[in-house]
Amino acid sequence: MRLVLVGPPGAGKGTQAQFIAEHLQVPKISTGDIFRANVGQGTELGLLAKTFMDRGDLVPDDVTIEMVRNRLTEDDAQGGFLLDGFPRTVPQAEVLDSMLAESGVKLHVVLELVVEDDEVIRRLSGRRTCRTCNHIWHIDFDPPSVEGVCDLDGGELYQRDDDQAETIANRLKVYANETAPLVGYYASRGLLVGIDATGPVDDVTQRAIDALRPLQHGD
Ligand code: AMP
Ligand code: ZN
Repeated sequence: MRLVLVGPPGAGKGTQAQFIAEHLQVPKISTGDIFRANVGQGTELGLLAKTFMDRGDLVPDDVTIEMVRNRLTEDDAQGGFLLDGFPRTVPQAEVLDSMLAESGVKLHVVLELVVEDDEVIRRLSGRRTCRTCNHIWHIDFDPPSVEGVCDLDGGELYQRDDDQAETIANRLKVYANETAPLVGYYASRGLLVGIDATGPVDDVTQRAIDALRPLQHGD
């Protein structure tokens, strides 16, 4: 299955992407994770991306698209994939369509995680990420047993620069201006399925799986 996950920052995309990808047995391709890995390794791509990410702005389309194009040619993506955080602009979506068309395939579904704005702010400001495994915890909704320490591997938890208050406000503005138009873009192509992404993480995952079940098929 070839699937795209969209939703505002803080909708729980990263967390849900992981569970849904495991359930569907497809690789999770997260542009945010790839950028962060590059920042961590200090690559040229990372240095470029960081300046945009720290402000809550989008990395330019040409850079992002090239990175995704390369990732989608890898072997594990040939049998399907879940894209988390890409596309994030209509031009990115158009390029994705043509990349897939070149390979003679199409997207099966675009799953929208629906969450209100004020809920999004509460979620983002309490978010803490593990330095070791990137698992996302939440100081209120999903706290680790020991404050500041990942339950999975003892890694140190930190607040992403782009989860700081001013950056959150900018990310929401960028989402409304650049990314929200994708909802209409995919709805008009009959690909959009929306689910309520509030409430316990497991409930949201179950809603996603239920929404995807009728769409699962061989190719
Ligand atoms: P995320 O982890 O998906 O919230 O992404 C973190 C940051 O990486 C975003 O705020 C952007 O700066 C950058 N980023 C991730 N995906 C994209 C994309 N598809 N296009 C442009 N920038 C992106
Ligand atoms: Zn961890």
